[in-house]
Amino acid sequence: MSLNILFAAAPERWAEYEAPLRFALAEAGLKYELTPEVGDASRVDYIVYAPNGAVQDFRPFTATKVVLNLWAGVEALVDNETLTQPLTRMVDAGLTEGMTEWVTGHVLRHHLGMDVQIQGLAGKWASKVPPLARDRSVGVLGLGELGQACAQMLAHLNFRVTGWSRRAKEVAGVTALHGDEGLMQVLRSSEILVLLLPLTPGTENLLDAGRIAMLPKGAVILNPARGAIIDDTALLSALDSGQLDHATLDVFRTEPLPPEHPFWGHPKVTVTPHIASETRPGTAAQVIAENISRSEAGEPLLHLVDRRAGY
Ligand code: NAP
Repeated sequence: MSLNILFAAAPERWAEYEAPLRFALAEAGLKYELTPEVGDASRVDYIVYAPNGAVQDFRPFTATKVVLNLWAGVEALVDNETLTQPLTRMVDAGLTEGMTEWVTGHVLRHHLGMDVQIQGLAGKWASKVPPLARDRSVGVLGLGELGQACAQMLAHLNFRVTGWSRRAKEVAGVTALHGDEGLMQVLRSSEILVLLLPLTPGTENLLDAGRIAMLPKGAVILNPARGAIIDDTALLSALDSGQLDHATLDVFRTEPLPPEHPFWGHPKVTVTPHIASETRPGTAAQVIAENISRSEAGEPLLHLVDRRAGY
């Protein structure tokens, strides 16, 4: 029997994803019909989903077995009460690689003080040798798929890496902490702090004025996670007071970042337009096909979202 698979994402995604999905589904030996048109919702077996598509109400999809989110973050879906089917999120080798490269590149920029060299020394031979990575502390909030990969890459470069997660865990080469006391320890020691948490009620505004004040003076924050994890007003005031030296932000409360937002043009803020990493169609299609095969075989799904935890 052929499976009906609906591709429910913004229309421009269809051109990127159609061929990789067809290839991966065929490679997995699945018989399927794949379409971006909803048609008879009651006959759809699987929904490959991304925000900004046509489907917001899942109630008509009475036969749907799994909703497979193409993105890593699921904050736009976890509160949707019409969604009663199991929800998976994207863990994709290409996405992880991209995030590891973005984080490592931006950590090295600040660690080595590259801006000074790139802007030129303005005729002054004022050499300031950067410390070795072994003498630089980096904190990573969130030790999931992306946080662990980034923390371990930084540890391989010899940075002193401390990480924080909701539950206790062990990550080779990284001092992994959890709980309120663990968060304070990470913050107190992080000259460079990387956010890789999901946006949930437990992480919204986590970096408020009080927690930013715990960072060493002159610390740098990198946020490729979600904008609302940081209190923007507290961030700007810490940059202006010198408590923070710089913030490199890839994600924002409102995207695209509005033209009048003070982050644009702030001398201590680098804005990147939510490009830290993206799901890569070639590798992501394999994850989707694997999960559909698992579902058909009655095997446990990969990357199942815990709706109560919110990620
Ligand atoms: P993940 O595997 O679900 O990992 C999330 C991590 O955060 C886990 O270590 C989890 O702890 C921890 N965590 C969650 N809630 C917490 C809390 N209240 N207190 C302490 N730790 C908490 O997620 P991921 O795949 O690494 O992705 C992380 C986020 O990156 C995504 O949610 C998305 O928002 C963002 N992202 C951004 C881009 C971009 O281009 N900018 C691309 C992809 C993803 P446990 O380990 O204990 O569960």
